[in-house]
Amino acid sequence: MSETPSRDFIRQIIHDDLESGKHSEIVTRFPPEPNGHLHIGHVMSICLNFGVAAENGGRTYLRLDDTNPGKESKEYVDAIKNDVHWLGFDWEDRLTHASDYFGELYESASRLIESGGAYVDSLSADEIREHRGTLTEPGRNSPYRDRSVEENMDLFRRMREGEFGDGEHVLRARIDMSSPNMNLRDPALYRIRHIEHQNAGDEWCIYPMYDFAHTMSDAYEHITHSLCTLEFEDHRPLYDWFLDQLEPPHRPRQIEFSRLNLAYAVTSKRKLNALVEEGIVSGWDDPRMPTIAGMRRRGYPVASLREFVARAGVTKKDKLIEMGVMENCVRETLGEQAERRMGVLRPLKVVLTNYAQDQVEMMEAMNHPARPELGTREMPFSRELYIERDDFMEDAPRKFFRLKPGGEVRLRFGYIIRCDDIVRNESGEVVELHCSYDPDTRSGTGSSDRKVKGTIHWVSCEHAIDASVRLYDRLFTVVNPNAESDFHSVLNAQSLETVEAKLEPSLGELPVGQAVQFERLGYFCADEKDDAPAARVLNRIVTLRDSWAKLEKQAMQEQG
Ligand code: ATP
Ligand code: MG
Repeated sequence: MSETPSRDFIRQIIHDDLESGKHSEIVTRFPPEPNGHLHIGHVMSICLNFGVAAENGGRTYLRLDDTNPGKESKEYVDAIKNDVHWLGFDWEDRLTHASDYFGELYESASRLIESGGAYVDSLSADEIREHRGTLTEPGRNSPYRDRSVEENMDLFRRMREGEFGDGEHVLRARIDMSSPNMNLRDPALYRIRHIEHQNAGDEWCIYPMYDFAHTMSDAYEHITHSLCTLEFEDHRPLYDWFLDQLEPPHRPRQIEFSRLNLAYAVTSKRKLNALVEEGIVSGWDDPRMPTIAGMRRRGYPVASLREFVARAGVTKKDKLIEMGVMENCVRETLGEQAERRMGVLRPLKVVLTNYAQDQVEMMEAMNHPARPELGTREMPFSRELYIERDDFMEDAPRKFFRLKPGGEVRLRFGYIIRCDDIVRNESGEVVELHCSYDPDTRSGTGSSDRKVKGTIHWVSCEHAIDASVRLYDRLFTVVNPNAESDFHSVLNAQSLETVEAKLEPSLGELPVGQAVQFERLGYFCADEKDDAPAARVLNRIVTLRDSWAKLEKQAMQEQG
């Protein structure tokens, strides 16, 4: 499996800019707002920004876009740094914050005032909205629009010094109140907010607005290509207006690409936050969440996430990618890496009536069928075993090749057994099987070459480790929960099931962060939070086969 980015339209632009000599070095930035945890959409943006720079010997900034105090926190800043590192990217000494530039931004805004490009407006927020017009009607000039440069400079300085309350004044760009592009109708540049900032402390009581701060931060950092998502396309004229007015020595270029959306998931921080706040999931790192923290805890390997976004590609077209594509990337990565083990999720006891009471044999089991260099391990085999409840069927159809009354099956790395008797409890449920084993059929060394159609997994009762295993499913029942007016109505009530499982003894030492394949069942890992050596808690990362594939294909087609 390789991660070979073909030359998408952004890589083509960058290639051309290097060829033509427009730029000699590529500088990009990943600019998250620290108001939540990063999700799969951000993985795409991270891989793109760090990727295109690295491919061309360039540099990338991790810039925290923190212009909105009150919603942002240090906790999110730390989580973002951790997530980007985990994905394998390094900003080296280029960790910055929009708030690092509050001084420069103030200077730039003052220069705009001096050149007549900005004014202090004293209308209320409601009045400003009312003056803005609509998509079909032009806006109206504010009565304060023609204040003199001196008056504007004086008011702006006093805004900064804290003379006014929140909302009393705003600094606005003086562009065009009748522009068909609403973003150009004298957008706000600065507002007054008497609130502490998680990075800047209480140094400021005026804060720059996103568009202004973002454009100018790009310019200060000598960003060559400012890559953002399509919803900012309409903001590009404003981005360019700032650059035209202020003429910074380095002029960045904004290029938009489409957002990556994952089927059966929401990827808006607001909605993800709601899932956490309302207790629908256990936290931002709940393994069902499409957050980096959730996917890491679930056990998705980094390589599979990077492969996933490489397959999704960079385009201008909106896309909703099947969860199956993500899961296939996870399967492919883990299929190669993960050692095989045996675990029984829904145990049914089997007693081998002709096997000696205290006998224990050590069975040699391969750790990986395709990678002999990973060696073997020993699994204890004894008179009482657990098998998967689903591997026994009382009224089995003819084609059922696992265990049925009077039928035979091979125990992997063990013997062929035959089911002789069924033991039931008072309510008639099957609680135990009495079987006999054929001593001539031991795997590898058996003298008999007798063959049976089915092979099942097992663990020895006496030696088994108890574990809680969490089985995860999609969090939503519809392909595009983003399109629902209320996502609560499409939550999948069965997205988490916990089963009490029996595992082979070697799994007692499974380190957190290491994935294994339970033969025939899927890939699993110890939970990074709840697992303890004395009480193992495992997550199912992904099943071996894609049971949703058909349904998902169909639903995606209906979506169009
Ligand atoms: P959300 O809607 O989840 O809050 P956001 O765009 O407000 O996302 P930011 O922290 O501002 O989140 O995003 C940082 C960067 O990641 C931006 O450049 C943004 O364009 C990009 N990004 C965010 N979501 C996606 C996505 N789904 N696909 C691709 N890029 C994304
Ligand atoms: Mg944003």
